[in-house]
Amino acid sequence: MSLFVTDWSVFRNFNPVTDTRLGCTCPRCRGIRPMVSRPFVVCVQKGRTAHGIPAIILSGSRCEIQNPLVGGSENSDHLYRADGTLLTCGWDIEFLYTKCDKAFTGLLKQARDNFARFRLLKVLLETTTNNTPIVSFLRAYMNAGLNRFGINYKRNFVHIGLSERNPAEVCWFY
Ligand SMILES: [Zn+2]
Repeated sequence: MSLFVTDWSVFRNFNPVTDTRLGCTCPRCRGIRPMVSRPFVVCVQKGRTAHGIPAIILSGSRCEIQNPLVGGSENSDHLYRADGTLLTCGWDIEFLYTKCDKAFTGLLKQARDNFARFRLLKVLLETTTNNTPIVSFLRAYMNAGLNRFGINYKRNFVHIGLSERNPAEVCWFY
């Protein structure tokens, strides 16, 4: 069994044909099927199903030319190679409510590093009784197995990723 997605029809809510930003959006790659980690998409679909709210991909896969152009890190979860030697294992999902739960995100901001922040996030998600949009979003996708979360206030998205080449159990703010 291959580790990258060969048949997108098995995923109910994600498809590079209909999700225009799932694949690399650079002029070179447009229309080319991206090489995306299957375990990653399995988790995302599981989270999406549990959450029950559309997940709009703002930034999906990026080829090696596009990634640095959009400011992606060298080891970015978004990065893939057409030959399948590197697979996308993270996407940015549009999130318009990052600011609406200041108490929650304020607590998270106090963590001393990205690992401590993930542990704190996990505890908060397990114990908080509030169910604001950011809490229900993060809870659904964390329970689905995603283990890398980046919250971007300025551009209103949450990065969700699976640790395949980058550290597991991290949460950061941009
Ligand atoms: Zn490209």
